[in-house]
Amino acid sequence: MSDDVIIVGGGIGGLTLALKLHQAGIACRIYDAAPEIKSVGVGINLLPHATKELAELGLEDALSQVAVTTVDACFFTRHGQLVYREPLGRHAGYAWPQFSIHRGDLHAVLLDACLKRFGPDRIFLGWKCVRVEQDAHAVTVHLHDATSGAELPPQRGLVAIGCDGINSAIRKQLYPDEGDPIYSGVNMWRGVTRWHPFLSGACMTRAGWHASGKMVIYPIRNNIDAAGRQLVNWLAEVETPNYKRRDWNRAGDINDFIGMEVRLERCAGIYPPRRHYSGISDGRSGSARALELRPHYAPG
Ligand SMILES: Cc1cc2nc3c(=O)[nH]c(=O)nc-3n(C[C@H](O)[C@H](O)[C@H](O)COP(=O)(O)OP(=O)(O)OC[C@H]3O[C@@H](n4cnc5c(N)ncnc54)[C@H](O)[C@@H]3O)c2cc1C
Repeated sequence: MSDDVIIVGGGIGGLTLALKLHQAGIACRIYDAAPEIKSVGVGINLLPHATKELAELGLEDALSQVAVTTVDACFFTRHGQLVYREPLGRHAGYAWPQFSIHRGDLHAVLLDACLKRFGPDRIFLGWKCVRVEQDAHAVTVHLHDATSGAELPPQRGLVAIGCDGINSAIRKQLYPDEGDPIYSGVNMWRGVTRWHPFLSGACMTRAGWHASGKMVIYPIRNNIDAAGRQLVNWLAEVETPNYKRRDWNRAGDINDFIGMEVRLERCAGIYPPRRHYSGISDGRSGSARALELRPHYAPG
């Protein structure tokens, strides 16, 4: 097996790469640090240039069964005024659709195709890559048991490709002085809710802008219950100097994005002052204050 390709990381990129290599007749093995593959994350939008690649792997039907085929995008001001609407995917004339999909569903479609096309023996879970070495002939990938930390047998392959995500160990090895990714100045909080179809029922909706808070809202699963509701992804984006290291699994705190007084002050600059604003300095928690002022935001 030392003449095949080693893929480090079996996330979205790693599994897609494995399917592409398999299609091209190149054998590979995948090593992922996660002890099991779970349905983690929430919404992802697959635009036509991405669905083209997945359609060429024969996955368009499988994706269309679990995703929402996006129809359009709408952009609103934070007061709810429509700025523009544009069609998306095939509705905009592309040869491929746009899908709004739960990351877990996308991952499951990719994993299912890998298992059917080259089987489970080439997917190793709980194997965490710590280092890669290259000699004149091949590569040696050094791995630890992700749970116990114990050293595992080094794996030889023709090449190793790092698909180990935003905090890539392989990238850190290749670019040791690079430092962490540069903070964009915007923090994001995400979640999902069950809700009835709104607007076109397949709309990628954005409201507001970073400086005062922005929401991105779109459905990612259809007909999740007898009432025909959808699973709706939402994302709050806030411009803030308070950097929190990117982590897809960290629990959020509502105070981080709903109780920011700087937003309220900016609001106060737009709206005429009202008695509600005295709540800002009354010493209660951020969320309590924010909720008190909620009529000045979109829900009001
Ligand atoms: C848990 C999780 C939830 C996410 N949720 C969302 C979401 O809701 N919305 C969104 O837009 N994007 C989400 N993402 C990010 C998104 O999947 C990726 O940014 C994007 O798809 C790029 O794919 P990728 O393959 O480069 O990285 P990822 O999909 O992040 O995959 C990286 C993989 O590498 C593995 N890995 C990491 N370090 C090592 C190591 N040292 N050795 C071996 N394996 C390693 C990880 O377990 C993971 O499976 C999430 C990623 C993760 C890991």
